[in-house]
Amino acid sequence: MIMMDLVIPDKTHDEERQGEALMLNATAEKNNGRKLYIESYGCAMNFSDSEIVASILQEQGFETTKDYNNADVVFINTCSIRENAEQRVRNRLKEFTVAKVKNPGMIVGVLGCMAERLKSKFLEEEKLVDVVVGPDAYRDLPNLIDTVDGGQKAVNVLLSREETYADINPVRLNSNGINAFVSIMRGCDNMCSFCVVPFTRGRERSREPQSIVKECTDLFNQGYREVTLLGQNVDSYKWKPAPPQPSPEGREPVWSAEQKVSPSGGNLEGAGVSFANLLEMVALISPELRVRFSTSHPKDILDDVLYTIAKYDNICNYIHLPVQSGNSRVLEMMNRTYDRAWYMERVDAIRRIIPDCAISTDVIAGFCSETEEEHQDTLSMMDYVQYDFAYMFTYSERPGTLAAKRYADDIPETVKSRRLKEIIARQQQYSHITLLREIGKVQKVLIEGFSKKSDKDYCGRSDKNAMVVFPADERFKPGQYVNVLVDRCTTATLLGQII
Ligand code: SAM
Ligand code: SF4
Repeated sequence: MIMMDLVIPDKTHDEERQGEALMLNATAEKNNGRKLYIESYGCAMNFSDSEIVASILQEQGFETTKDYNNADVVFINTCSIRENAEQRVRNRLKEFTVAKVKNPGMIVGVLGCMAERLKSKFLEEEKLVDVVVGPDAYRDLPNLIDTVDGGQKAVNVLLSREETYADINPVRLNSNGINAFVSIMRGCDNMCSFCVVPFTRGRERSREPQSIVKECTDLFNQGYREVTLLGQNVDSYKWKPAPPQPSPEGREPVWSAEQKVSPSGGNLEGAGVSFANLLEMVALISPELRVRFSTSHPKDILDDVLYTIAKYDNICNYIHLPVQSGNSRVLEMMNRTYDRAWYMERVDAIRRIIPDCAISTDVIAGFCSETEEEHQDTLSMMDYVQYDFAYMFTYSERPGTLAAKRYADDIPETVKSRRLKEIIARQQQYSHITLLREIGKVQKVLIEGFSKKSDKDYCGRSDKNAMVVFPADERFKPGQYVNVLVDRCTTATLLGQII
């Protein structure tokens, strides 16, 4: 299986962060003398979940460590989106088992998406772990750790219809103090036929909007300047509380006007809060706070969201709009519930309402029964949209999914890989073209720090999520915005000067 991320380092799926030891920025007020080692795999949602786990354990007095050999509790937060991820985790668990021989009190646990499917395998058959915890059971971690301390194995993989961890004040792990992820919903109800997420993360539920706004406001007050609102399908965000009880005198309940939370009519009572309303509520915290979001589902991204992006300068002109395939028959088999024409119409709407908007995508090569002509439709969709960047994968059959039950995984690996190479080559062309188009333009860049290659250069991202590198200037610090005139580019980065 080949997986490739191209062009713009995007924190929502940053390959470099995979498996990195995650550390708390601040030390805990309480200290129980025990150390947590945690590493995360997969999507941004998993990294965000690791911050929830660290918050819960920090409350118990745990500190973090970069070295699992010194840890009392070692957690690996897993992803099961593609098959190779599973093997990677198993190998890692074997390394932890070796460390455990020297440190017999060490607790090793598997968290996240693999928990449900592999619980008995990892716990009983392979005896690699002491505790297995699913994505909706993190509040139970202190009890589960107590159980293991008491000499037993512990498991909680129950999925919830309500859990959003809204009241958990997440600590930040490996943070630069400038960008943060904020989960706005959990789970997914879409049932795309290739995807395990609905099985591993459960039903879709939206987090209460005021807790999201409070978290983003707190981040802003701590100096953060960019939040990325996360969900598997952010456009279907919907908060609708239960209507109030009628008054004791028997009068009808009245929705209070003060509960109106966004100029476009988002309401904590009655009408409820849509994703467009929520975006606006977060954008209104401060014009100095950049707002990004991921992921948009093509079937649900409606014009209200596009108009809200266009209305606020601090909502970034960047939409991740996974296409998966450019062919309507394949899309139907994937159960994506849109076709080629619908997707193109949504792209046209983005171009019309937000004329200078970057679009990125996810593509799957070699889905069940995909013909050469259908693969060509994916390439021609790439020509139509001219994506700024893309995550590109070969199809990997996942046990339990609709596709695994209904369709044969019948495209030979060699053909999948060849199609993927063609898709990657096409994307490289467009990634470069989209960067070349920025030359000569002024970009508003949020400085994130020094560039990886030189401490004489700063790096940061443009509104459209392109990485920009430019000579550092002591008048400006990370966390500040600067205008950079782009004068050249590499295949992955814009280069320029502060003006
Ligand atoms: N919720 C997001 C959406 O619908 O666009 C995507 C979530 S998924 C974590 C990220 C990407 O992984 C998908 O868009 C898809 O391209 C890819 N993916 C998911 N399941 C896959 C599979 N079985 N084989 C290959 N790629 C897969
Ligand atoms: Fe998976 Fe589809 Fe849900 Fe995305 S929208 S998480 S691809 S089921």
